[in-house]
Amino acid sequence: MGVEAVGAGAGWGGAWGGLHGALGQLNRFRLVVEHTSNMVVITDAQRRIEYVNPSYTQVTGWALEEVKGRRPGEVLHGPLTCQATAREIRERLGRGESINQVELINHRKDGEPYWVQLNIQPVHDERGEVTHYVAIQLDVTAQRQAREALEASERRLAEALRLARMASFECNFGQDELRWTAGAEGVLGVEPGGLPRSFAEHIERVQDEDRAALMAAYLRVATDQAPYEVEYRILGAPGGPRWIRERGYHLSADGRAPRRLCALVFDVSASKAAQDRIAYLAWHDTLTGLANREQLQHLLRSRLDVARQQGRQLALLFIDLDRFKTINDTLGHHVGDDVLKLCAQRLQDSIRSSDLVARLGGDEFVVVLGDVDDSAVIARLGEKLLDALSRPMQVHGRELHVSASLGVSLYPQDGESVAELMRHADAAMYRAKALGRRTLAFYSPDLQSDNAQRFELEGRLRLALQRQELSLHFQPQFCAFDGALVGFEALLRWRTEVDGWVPPDRFIPLAEETGLIHDIGDWVLDEACRQWRRWADLGAPHLRVSVNLSAHQLRAPGLQERLGRLLIEHGLPSGVLELELTETVAMHDPASSIERMGQLRDAGISWAVDDFGTGYSSLAYLKTLPIQRIKLDRAFVRDLERSTDDQAICSAAIRLAHALGLELVAEGVETAAQHHFLRLHGCDVMQGYFLGRPIPDADACALIQRHLQA
Ligand code: C2E
Ligand code: MG
Ligand code: MG
Repeated sequence: MGVEAVGAGAGWGGAWGGLHGALGQLNRFRLVVEHTSNMVVITDAQRRIEYVNPSYTQVTGWALEEVKGRRPGEVLHGPLTCQATAREIRERLGRGESINQVELINHRKDGEPYWVQLNIQPVHDERGEVTHYVAIQLDVTAQRQAREALEASERRLAEALRLARMASFECNFGQDELRWTAGAEGVLGVEPGGLPRSFAEHIERVQDEDRAALMAAYLRVATDQAPYEVEYRILGAPGGPRWIRERGYHLSADGRAPRRLCALVFDVSASKAAQDRIAYLAWHDTLTGLANREQLQHLLRSRLDVARQQGRQLALLFIDLDRFKTINDTLGHHVGDDVLKLCAQRLQDSIRSSDLVARLGGDEFVVVLGDVDDSAVIARLGEKLLDALSRPMQVHGRELHVSASLGVSLYPQDGESVAELMRHADAAMYRAKALGRRTLAFYSPDLQSDNAQRFELEGRLRLALQRQELSLHFQPQFCAFDGALVGFEALLRWRTEVDGWVPPDRFIPLAEETGLIHDIGDWVLDEACRQWRRWADLGAPHLRVSVNLSAHQLRAPGLQERLGRLLIEHGLPSGVLELELTETVAMHDPASSIERMGQLRDAGISWAVDDFGTGYSSLAYLKTLPIQRIKLDRAFVRDLERSTDDQAICSAAIRLAHALGLELVAEGVETAAQHHFLRLHGCDVMQGYFLGRPIPDADACALIQRHLQA
């Protein structure tokens, strides 16, 4: 037969010889069996090994003579072999069935496991009895590892997609079957197994308004191969519609795959919600939920456009609550906030839904009425709003009474632009305030007249404190003898949004007339003491702070208590807070002035007579005042270089002050010559532009620090 001549293994001839009858016709495959990389095992009917090929020996390490007569399982099964699979193989073989492509872990002679794919074929004789089993085994370890690596990387990808709230699908063009990545259910918010299988199913879940865009995108990518990005809402997800962004592109046919669409889908609900919130915040007042200033301006502009085209009127109502600051200051911001919310609600309830309410900030609201052409109607509506606001409010267990002032401007007669209408409604509102609050005023051009301007100014002044438009500047005072910094005079400053700086000579008389001087004066005293505290903390507690006191303040009850409280609160020692009274004020009702000033001096206040020389103080009287200093009016200082009269007055005033045991402060020192003259004649303290202008608090602190270091 010539088998031996070709045979490679030692036992080959014997086994081959034994099989000769049954396998005779396979002789020519001998070469194949010996050279194939598959392992070949032949057993008898009892599954005892008769033959293994060289590949078997190569893979397992077992030679034929070592395994001959043993069962394959005995030889190859080990701790990692799946017993259930091994048993199933035995049972199936016992039933005469063949085994195809079953995978199992076997172990090599050295114990190393490997994956094998098994194919076992029983061989029958003429009578149908099994005589042998031929097993072909394939080492599939490498494939197994590759497959496992692939599966692991797919799992990781799926996890990454899940974390990114992202999934994808593919679909061949011309077919209608969407193949989704694992975890796509989570992104779309559908039940497991509930993913849309076709475009139709997918689109059906999309919210009506968003469908057209998605369909158009599919059409474009199919016809023009144009990539797309669409956002739409998917219905049916738990917790409401879910925002999905879908980005799709065309993939050209390659060797293996046909032309297809690949689309990524992202769950963008969270970022949409954040975007919505940002957009909301940009356009709304967070406290009341009303439109804010930006939205008001935006809407008002477009309403003006419409009114212009249609030749209609528009009314702008500017509303400011009266004394809101008091509520905030005395009852706290939480009460103030609730009052504002209630006001917003009441305003909204009192207008038509087509009208507009906005909160500008603070306690200011604006209402825009469209389609009105009768002032009487507007006035009635304005009254209605004021009534609504002044109904008692229950806030935090107390009943509060709020009122408001309202100013109206009309388009087109009072202004064509948003800015102009706002400004004029604002001006009208100030007039309403000045008219006595809880009232309404229409804008009219005569609001620009002197009287009207005063009205308006008064209205503005009423709000100056709460809008924090007031501040103090400090003008330094120096010792004439050695140039040391001895203190500052606190001078009130008012900066309005509309007019800029308003000089104190203009608004202080107004504040006095209207009684506003009490609130303002209290604020000044408090602020001045607060600043002194800062100077003391910088290391200059010896500095004096001078505050101008108006006649009304001197006569108001409770001044002594207030001042006493302030001195304690800010820790001012006796004598550093100086109050300046003008000569005329001190002269008015001298007896009572003397009494009050005396009480305050005993409480630690020092006194100066301001603007000395402009009134008619009698020397005898001046002597009786409990004062420490006299401030010579700057009118006498101004012409000092030219006027010998003024020179005589100045030197006499200095001598007079000294004779009374008082210090003399010269005001308005603007030149070196004035400074020289005053110093020469024994003036004690000097104040004026030559030495230093009034400066903001921070600059005053810096000046103090420079002097401390010098
Ligand atoms: P006053 O008390 O006589 O204050 C001095 C004024 O003269 C300040 O004007 C100051 O800026 C100015 N001044 C200082 N040095 C010079 C200078 O060298 N040349 C010139 N031309 N002017 C100088 P201001 O700040 O405009 O104040 C004007 C008046 O307003 C004050 O006169 C005072 O009577 C009143 N005032 C200021 N603040 C208050 C306050 O808080 N309460 C009260 N009741 N009145 C105040
Ligand atoms: Mg003064
Ligand atoms: Mg003065």
